[in-house]
Amino acid sequence: MADCLFCKIAAREIPGDIVHADERLIAFGDINPQAPTHVLIIPRRHISTLNDLTAGDTDLVGEMVHLASRIAADRGHAAAGYRTVFNCNAAAGQTVFHIHLHLLAGRDMTWPPG
Ligand code: AMP
Ligand code: ZN
Repeated sequence: MADCLFCKIAAREIPGDIVHADERLIAFGDINPQAPTHVLIIPRRHISTLNDLTAGDTDLVGEMVHLASRIAADRGHAAAGYRTVFNCNAAAGQTVFHIHLHLLAGRDMTWPPG
């Protein structure tokens, strides 16, 4: 999608701290990290919000979650724990309208989230 920040990072048209890239997914460091590890996992294909997922996207979303768990494990966070978050639309605070899974780790989290 022409004017999408995360499509541009996936296409390497603008810089990103890319920590993983494969045929379907990219992962990169969040520019404003909220934890010692704060990585965003996105599909290369533009999908604006979780509301736009179709039944055919089930495997893709599963791959996103699995990649988050692998990055967490690679960084030594598996045993202590970590958080994964999808924000959808305004009430959840979504600001970039290309779906992304936040992986947050390296500190204790509070619950419920704000
Ligand atoms: P959300 O509020 O769920 O839409 O999350 C969007 C996230 O994208 C925020 O945590 C931002 O800090 C992050 N972000 C915005 N611009 C960039 C960028 N150029 N590179 C990396 N992360 C970004
Ligand atoms: Zn996009």
